[in-house]
Amino acid sequence: MELLRTIAELQQRVRQQQARGLSIGLVPTMGALHAGHASLIRAAAKDCEYVVVSLFVNPTQFGPNEDFAKYPRSFAADCELAAKEGADALFTPAVEEMYPEGAATFVEVEGLSNRLDGASRPGHFRGVTTVVTKLLAAAQPDRAYFGQKDAAQVAVLRRMTRDLCFGTELVVCPIVRDVDGLALSSRNVYLTADERKQALALSRAVRRVEALVAHGERKAEVLLATARASLAAEPNLKIDYVELVNWATLEPVKVAEAGTLFAVAAWVGETRLIDNAVVG
Ligand code: AMP
Repeated sequence: MELLRTIAELQQRVRQQQARGLSIGLVPTMGALHAGHASLIRAAAKDCEYVVVSLFVNPTQFGPNEDFAKYPRSFAADCELAAKEGADALFTPAVEEMYPEGAATFVEVEGLSNRLDGASRPGHFRGVTTVVTKLLAAAQPDRAYFGQKDAAQVAVLRRMTRDLCFGTELVVCPIVRDVDGLALSSRNVYLTADERKQALALSRAVRRVEALVAHGERKAEVLLATARASLAAEPNLKIDYVELVNWATLEPVKVAEAGTLFAVAAWVGETRLIDNAVVG
């Protein structure tokens, strides 16, 4: 696996591979890689002949009071995991490489960017869509891999790639969970042992809603009330949002149907966690 640090290096390597007729896969990450990221890299390695994993803690998607400075960083372990899962290149640019002096162009998906996580993290999706645009423009991959774990992000990026005519196919991979059900996240390392147990309330709420839908309950009112009650059983958890939405528009729905997304975000101590399931 080769290390690429500049956009010029990335472009040159990818163009060489494309000239040889190889298909290109891109897996954007912020590092602190875990089995969720590994599943994306594996999927890319299965589908594509040259796989680039990007590792960039993107400052523009963090709010001023968020955890950019303390976001977990584990470069050596990330290199090992990416190589083991089949990455051909690891793109690890410096902040100044991605945002050189005078960078003034941002990409924003209007409307969608203010829903779910975008409502509680103003500017977050603008940062995501800007950095993903830069990565797609530089690497021009055939396919780019994202996790359903960040379901609102998937909706925003699907709309963006359609609106901006990117030829890249977005591949969405299922949520990878710990044995106890907690969705894997780089931020789970922030949790104390007690918080780790409290955090299970999110996946429990997701499972309850899935079970209700499986038994024929479709009314948002009932599904959301059940989810809220389930989360309220854990007093140390603070709900950010509990929503039933159309996954494409992120608009609330009254009745769960095909393509409906149940999504939850909550604070456990200082850590904000998310979880979701496609129901209906
Ligand atoms: P991040 O490094 O947190 O920005 O995540 C990079 C990519 O990995 C995103 O597309 C995430 O949705 C995906 N991802 C993170 N956690 C998981 C997980 N538990 N299961 C599947 N994909 C994940």
